[in-house]
Amino acid sequence: MMVVMNVEATKDQIDAVITRVEANNFNVILNQGEERTVIAVVGTNPSVIREQLMYMPGVDHTVPISRPYKVASREFIPANTIFPLDGFMIGGDEVVIIAGPCAVENRSQVLESPYAVKEAGAHALRGGAYKPRSSPYSFQGLGEEGLEILAEARELTGLPIVTEVMAPELVPLVARYADVLQIGARNMQNFALLHAVGECDKPVLLKRGNSALIEELLMAAEYILSHGNRRVILCERGIRTFETTTRNTTDINAIPVLKSLTHLPVILDPSHSTGHADLVIPIARAGIAAGADGLIIEVHPNPKEAMSDGGQSLTPEKFATLVKQIKAIARDVGRK
Ligand code: PEP
Ligand code: MN
Repeated sequence: MMVVMNVEATKDQIDAVITRVEANNFNVILNQGEERTVIAVVGTNPSVIREQLMYMPGVDHTVPISRPYKVASREFIPANTIFPLDGFMIGGDEVVIIAGPCAVENRSQVLESPYAVKEAGAHALRGGAYKPRSSPYSFQGLGEEGLEILAEARELTGLPIVTEVMAPELVPLVARYADVLQIGARNMQNFALLHAVGECDKPVLLKRGNSALIEELLMAAEYILSHGNRRVILCERGIRTFETTTRNTTDINAIPVLKSLTHLPVILDPSHSTGHADLVIPIARAGIAAGADGLIIEVHPNPKEAMSDGGQSLTPEKFATLVKQIKAIARDVGRK
């Protein structure tokens, strides 16, 4: 339930509502809008205290929040969440492109392409130092050494770093190096990990699990938001269907659906959603046309030799083509 305060409500009146809510063993989440304050009352069946709250001084009206996710919902926060990331904004007019290899393999591989991706127009650099591989015998990532290489790439290019964190105990370490913490599809419902990134002060890129409902993705985001970390980016990265020609099936629907249900930025990962380098550009175009706020793209200096996801990785040249085409579509749909 939301308690919508009136425009003239005083701080004392807002505090009195909060005190009353907490005295009834419900939790409070505040949205201090420019015009008025809205207080979300969360817990089991908050409508039992509706009558107590609706006549308190300063209260305009109360409304139920119909969705199970609260802070993530557009009902509670109608305006788009837009936040800065080293020199650009995510969630605003500009379409943001994150690019780089699937995994950090060695120094020269990472330090060879960041200039090319930066020059082509990437806003941020991706690369996994901790890799969630389907097989325990596949390359698992370089760990902290990989993070150091990413930090070096940031020093050289000025591009912020997006990298995956796979376990709660690794959050402090990864957060020391990364500008954005990625939660991979396989960990979308790792609640201990969601709590841990919710407590940290870095933005989080939350990928949709490959069998997760849109509502489950939003509930996973809610875990992070409920800890006070409001800088969450959602990522559609394909879901598992009966179709096996492509690695996953890009759920293009999810983009406008998410944009209508939540104020959080939504990006698309056409590399994992298709699994084929040849499909990345067309599906990236579709994602931006459908209203995505950005893209995350796997780019490798030599895809044939990649230690993971080479088949879906673009060369830096192909990536430059993608950026050019995306910019044109972005303009056509009223973005930058
Ligand atoms: C990745 O970004 O390299 C990755 C492992 O993605 P996902 O979690 O979407 O499979
Ligand atoms: Mn990958």
